[in-house]
Amino acid sequence: MVIFDSEFGAYMCERCNLHYNTSELARECENWDMHHNSCNLRISRQSVEVASRKYPV
Ligand SMILES: [Zn+2]
Repeated sequence: MVIFDSEFGAYMCERCNLHYNTSELARECENWDMHHNSCNLRISRQSVEVASRKYPV
């Protein structure tokens, strides 16, 4: 489930714990995770973590 992490200030994909600025992206990430059991670089690259380089992918 996509939740809004108010502490982080962004939407979080509960499957991989990456945060996104829009719920659409977080939902897209979660959909991918659900069907492929891995992260999609095209999506995760847009996460707050990767964009701010806190999380190297
Ligand atoms: Zn995800």
